[in-house]
Amino acid sequence: MNKELFARKTGTRHIPISQPLIPQPMSRAGAIDEQTIIQKVNTEQILEHFEFEKLWPYKFCGIKAGCWEIEFTPKTKAYPIFNHQQTRYKGTLRVERDGHAHTISGDLYKFRQYLFELEKIGIPVKATYKWQNAIYRNELGSFSRYIPKKKKCPVHPRNKYHSYLEGTNILYSYFSRSEKCSFTLDFDQWYYTHPASGFDGDFNGTADRSIRMEITEVTSTNFIGTVYIGTTKIGDVKLWWRSSSFRKAHLEIFTLEGAEHPPTTVADGNGGTESFETIFETAGWNLHVTRNTTKVPLPASLSGTDINECWDWDDLHDIMDSTPGYDNSELEKKWRVFLVSVPATLGCSRGVVFDQTTGDTNSIDREGSATYSHDGFNASHSSNFGAAEDEMMKDWPRGFLRSAAHEVGHAFNQYHQPQQNSIMCPTPSVADAIAASGETFPEDIDLSFNDTVRHKLIHQPDPAIRPGAMDWSAAFGVPEADDVNFYDSHDLELKVKTNKGNINIGEPIEVSWTITNKMTEAVRIPGNIGPDQHTTRVSVSKPNGDILHMRLPLDAHDEGHNPLPLAAGKSTSSETMLFWSRKGFAFEQPGRHEVNVILIWEDSGVFFAVESSTEVWVNYPISERDNEIAALMMNDDVGRFILTGNQKRFPKGMERVKEAISKHKNHDVSKTMIRLLDKKTSKTKH
Ligand SMILES: [Zn+2]
Repeated sequence: MNKELFARKTGTRHIPISQPLIPQPMSRAGAIDEQTIIQKVNTEQILEHFEFEKLWPYKFCGIKAGCWEIEFTPKTKAYPIFNHQQTRYKGTLRVERDGHAHTISGDLYKFRQYLFELEKIGIPVKATYKWQNAIYRNELGSFSRYIPKKKKCPVHPRNKYHSYLEGTNILYSYFSRSEKCSFTLDFDQWYYTHPASGFDGDFNGTADRSIRMEITEVTSTNFIGTVYIGTTKIGDVKLWWRSSSFRKAHLEIFTLEGAEHPPTTVADGNGGTESFETIFETAGWNLHVTRNTTKVPLPASLSGTDINECWDWDDLHDIMDSTPGYDNSELEKKWRVFLVSVPATLGCSRGVVFDQTTGDTNSIDREGSATYSHDGFNASHSSNFGAAEDEMMKDWPRGFLRSAAHEVGHAFNQYHQPQQNSIMCPTPSVADAIAASGETFPEDIDLSFNDTVRHKLIHQPDPAIRPGAMDWSAAFGVPEADDVNFYDSHDLELKVKTNKGNINIGEPIEVSWTITNKMTEAVRIPGNIGPDQHTTRVSVSKPNGDILHMRLPLDAHDEGHNPLPLAAGKSTSSETMLFWSRKGFAFEQPGRHEVNVILIWEDSGVFFAVESSTEVWVNYPISERDNEIAALMMNDDVGRFILTGNQKRFPKGMERVKEAISKHKNHDVSKTMIRLLDKKTSKTKH
């Protein structure tokens, strides 16, 4: 399949990320021969800025690891006398060092600043600065004196997000002690396209431009320099070291009355303790945890809910909304996620990142996750739970803490890892991995992120990680079409069918897909091909050429990544209803549509896919009642109601459907809705 079409149909979201680099010595007149110096020191000391005393009279230069504040001021034309505005980029640069390897990534936020004294034209000026439309009293022409006061890794408003910096090359200097260290840092810059509303935007599939920063130290925690494209100077840059942690986030934990608090600490087996804080330290983060010891009551909106059942995602959202101090405008100032502990019961999957797709009732993704204190380690999920088998998490603190931290990891957009003993593996996989290495569950649970997740948590772009930005589906990457092996339909056939060939505007359609192994041997396909698996990608191509990838509710604990054999000659099927997704309606225009299904999976590092399509004709409205029905049905609340079948949550949607049915009982749309309501399409249990 064509690369661009494949990306659009699968809803691919490219997320750039920096990779480790080995810094190279800068070639420079007067520089000392590197070999001469290397002979004087052992390898570990190279690049260790703070060990240079041993190198007298020379020194090597290094960039301190951690979070740096960055400010990039592009060169601008001469200012007119009034309306002195200047664009300025503020953000962070993360420098991670592992031996010689350096990984450098950054994020820029775009601001406009007024460069003149507003008082002179009669506008009152606040004493404190604000980055948004920042006003600098008495700072005209003297920005260089500005040094931010708060020495912490800065956080900027989401709507100001501009671009990601992917470090691609580092040159370092090694000079005599009397000289200042200098570096050349190369970056690919990736612009972020914001959506019409919200913050769930996208990066292009390729970098927008390459820039080079030539920086020189002022002190070991402050660099200044110049930014170039090729040989053209495009602006100035300043860097201030802020913290040894790469990112800072806040976790607010609330426990529902009737549930148990997640453990504050557990023993590490060596006389110390482990906690949410130490778990996130393994990813270089500074996680600030607020543990609310007073349990929260069930909000009135949920009265009658059985708290000992598996939970609806949107009910968990209600609990989050009801917690004292909940205010989502805080997301502009800090990275904050909620963890709510509810009881639930054995078999509910131990926890969930509820704040996504249909569970996200305010379109601010990944604000919260939940942990289930009275759920636990049921034997049907793994035979390796040992003494904890069929017991509740609340009685096994190490398992409880692990599982709760796993859900918080989801809220920071991290996805499952292959079977191993690390935080982002599902609990049964952890138990199986522990058993395979001859250890004991839950005592030998490793409370740390693996290298893959650590790398992402440190270096993925801010919007991919920070709560309330790119949605949960962004965690599920799809490779480019060129890197995917498509099965020939003579070998592995996918058939897509709809329940009707013609529909009216405002009418949902049922689509089903069947995969058949036509070969003489078993073939491995995704363990589950349901619509809530990240391996299943459904899209609708519209008459005007638009392609809408239907972002269906994803099961955070899906099995799509677990390939299982499909015997020769055998088939397996699944289905869903197409009407609405968070990105729009499937069928809102009359004319020919194509419904496409792609199943894509990874098996031992290789990507495989099957794809197929079917056509759907959407009738032109010809009567007044066609228009009346369309006007009632083409509504987001109706969409959410149809997607979830949840009339309690979306009563307005339900009312509009009822109105359509009562006004035009014999209309095709009403007939379809009557049939669907009879089916009681409750998809809210997970
Ligand atoms: Zn999970």
